[in-house]
Amino acid sequence: MESIIKTFSTHGTLVQPESLEYILTKENPKDFSQMIANQLTEYPLVLTIQIIKEIEEKMNQEPNDFKPETILDHSLNEENKTITDQQTIMLEKPSQQIPKCKTIKEKPQPPLFISPSIWKPVAKDYDSEVKILSDITGNSLCEGTTNDFKKLFADRFDTLRSYLRTQRRELMQVIPIKRVSKSSKDETQLIGIVNNIRTTQNGHRFFELEDDTGILPCIVLQNNIEAFTAAENIITDEIIGIVGTPSKNGDLFLVNNVIYPDISMHNRQHISHAPIVTAFLSDIHIGSREFMDKSWRSFLKWINCEIGNKRQKTVAGKIKYLVIPGDVVDGIGVYPGQENDLTIPDLYKQYEELAKQLVHIPDYIKIIIQPGNHDAVRPAEPQPTFEKEIQKLFSANDITFISNPSTFSLHSVEILSYHGQSLLDYATNIQHLKFNEPIEIMKTMLQKHHLAPFYGGYTPLAPEHKDYMIIKKIPDIFVTGHVHLANLGEYRGVTLINASSWQDQTGYQKMLNFVPNPAKLPIADLQTGNVTMMDFTQTL
Ligand code: FE
Ligand code: ZN
Repeated sequence: MESIIKTFSTHGTLVQPESLEYILTKENPKDFSQMIANQLTEYPLVLTIQIIKEIEEKMNQEPNDFKPETILDHSLNEENKTITDQQTIMLEKPSQQIPKCKTIKEKPQPPLFISPSIWKPVAKDYDSEVKILSDITGNSLCEGTTNDFKKLFADRFDTLRSYLRTQRRELMQVIPIKRVSKSSKDETQLIGIVNNIRTTQNGHRFFELEDDTGILPCIVLQNNIEAFTAAENIITDEIIGIVGTPSKNGDLFLVNNVIYPDISMHNRQHISHAPIVTAFLSDIHIGSREFMDKSWRSFLKWINCEIGNKRQKTVAGKIKYLVIPGDVVDGIGVYPGQENDLTIPDLYKQYEELAKQLVHIPDYIKIIIQPGNHDAVRPAEPQPTFEKEIQKLFSANDITFISNPSTFSLHSVEILSYHGQSLLDYATNIQHLKFNEPIEIMKTMLQKHHLAPFYGGYTPLAPEHKDYMIIKKIPDIFVTGHVHLANLGEYRGVTLINASSWQDQTGYQKMLNFVPNPAKLPIADLQTGNVTMMDFTQTL
């Protein structure tokens, strides 16, 4: 009898006296109680007779479709059905070990995880629905000529001017720069591309505005606080609107109002009717010495519903999509001396290893992979997706390869995924933005409708004939990676996610005193819009 009680008490579960009596009526009470214990995925506070009987009944009736969570509902308090809080996962039962990164052998792999007869993931019931809405792959036209640059800027100007004219009330009477009358006393509305920004000796903000008819020197005076604050966000090569009047002597344009494209107040338009979620997994950096093997294996166990409490397993079972926004491997030659930081020094082998790891993702989950600046694609953005030679390594999984950036919909929910190299350019060029606060930068990107307007910064840009870095359509979810932080936010209904990394602090980051926030997994519920974060840094 003592051993029966102990079977449950080691998990913090008290056995009710009548439950104990019932167990003792069995032919082999010890084996019977062990069998009951094995079927519990989460240990209730009190083991009632009802729980025992239901487990028995289920096992007799449907040995192949056994769902422990339906039984546990009797004994647990009302569970939060949506995912809203920061959660950590806990290992409740010892389980089979997933082989370490380097020891995984041939594919396809035998199932390493919980038997599907015990857990039935909801996401399995739904087919994936992916639509690519914007992607450079196969459409790259640039050769790097002056003419290419002209076309790119013409497209940027036309697209954003037409947006500003139609969407911003303050710019409905816009005129071309050449028609600005030096003697006019009336307010004039203009749209153009910004150049030569500087702060004058007296602390005012100066820049040139250019359109296809002329160039106008402009000034925002320090004492015009509202306009001056807005002007602090102006960056070179972006398209803005201004409202103002010519100065007394007519050689400068006095700006009273700076107008960015911005987005409407309420966005989030699309929801999924299926109860499914998308997980975001950025900057895996396979091949790096700092790759977080242990956390990665916990993640694989969890996504297979093998570990975690009931709620966490329920979330794992709802994952229909896994979006990977770049830096999937560490690459080679990305920075000087990188060879010393690699466990897999061969680029092709890094992708092979990633493919082996992804085999452990359940086959009903659709994976979306985007390249980043460490990946084996052209460095200039927009980056077309991986060559066929690399794609074919991943044939064991259901994968859609996309460009960087790319917009697509998953079960109608529209997602803009961008690796995020220009986060550093934004932080360098706008004083109040910091690269370790990516959510604030992502808001600014939305306000400007542009992911990377800067030439000559950190982000190499290819002069395509269309500006793929413009945010043409405001998404429901906007995700970036690159800065290895794990942040969630929201701007006017758009969910903002910076999707962590699976690489621990590197020597380079240490030198810069930068502390990453790795091994987190942001998860967006496509039906409710809620977002949460799983933490795989905890000891399991
Ligand atoms: Fe990275
Ligand atoms: Zn990166």
